[in-house]
Amino acid sequence: MNVTLEIDSSSGFCPGVVNAVRRAEDHLALHGTLHSLGPIVHNSLEIDRLRDKGLRIVDLDSIDNLSGRVLLIRAHGEPPSTYEAVTAKGITLIDCTCPVVLRLQEKVRKAFLRMEKVGGTVVIFGKHGHAEVNGLVGQTEGRAVVIGNSDEISDVDFSRPIELFSQTTKDPVEYDAIVKIMRARAKDLKVHNTICAQVSNRHKSLVNFARSHSMILFISGRESSNGKVLFDLCKSVNPRSWWIEDASQVDPAWIRDGDTIGICGATSTPAWQLEEAMESLSYRLKLI
Ligand code: SF4
Repeated sequence: MNVTLEIDSSSGFCPGVVNAVRRAEDHLALHGTLHSLGPIVHNSLEIDRLRDKGLRIVDLDSIDNLSGRVLLIRAHGEPPSTYEAVTAKGITLIDCTCPVVLRLQEKVRKAFLRMEKVGGTVVIFGKHGHAEVNGLVGQTEGRAVVIGNSDEISDVDFSRPIELFSQTTKDPVEYDAIVKIMRARAKDLKVHNTICAQVSNRHKSLVNFARSHSMILFISGRESSNGKVLFDLCKSVNPRSWWIEDASQVDPAWIRDGDTIGICGATSTPAWQLEEAMESLSYRLKLI
């Protein structure tokens, strides 16, 4: 079978995740154990790799016995209430909140204060329950309205002033569509362009990559919000796109003679996983 394989050079961890993983590994190398508030990245293989080095994942309900220990906050960030709870328990923090998310939190906080004065609303386009979204809602004392898709726009009170933000990893095209609908209905709407440049640039390069290959293998954890957005994007321009968590899930029946297979992933997919998939697939294709 004559098949070529190519890894998308723009895939791999975004800088926010690179920083969080590096700081976790540095700490683990020195101390052998570290707790993370939630999975450091939405990728089970990377979590397994870090678990083997001593990383333990906890949630807020189970930090009671972490007094005197070290807890990592992920690139997604956390609401102010988390910092209060952690400080009260005497836990030391390694705060890996991405600087882009920190700036967004600050913008949301300021918008909330403005909206408070005029009886307006902060609206956040994002995934319900996602850590980053929870961190943003926390800047508004829990009062921001979260919309997960255009169907939920009806939850917004358009009679009042609105400031609109997006979670950093949302689809820029979907955000544009939401902005358009809201502009048509709102009397007073201020739109903030808060999708991370890493994400929006990746959208553009991924479209080109998916178009220039006959088949796409998209590698990411199923729980990755950015993974779903980027896979849908690949699928929209290349119907022969498959979402897998690792190369063992590739069905040989998907592959045709002469295929040019593009391998890519989400901002939570490590480069080593793409390379491993390429190696494993090259080996398997020789057996077909
Ligand atoms: S996607 Fe952007 S904002 Fe989110 S963690 Fe990565 S670099 Fe930071």
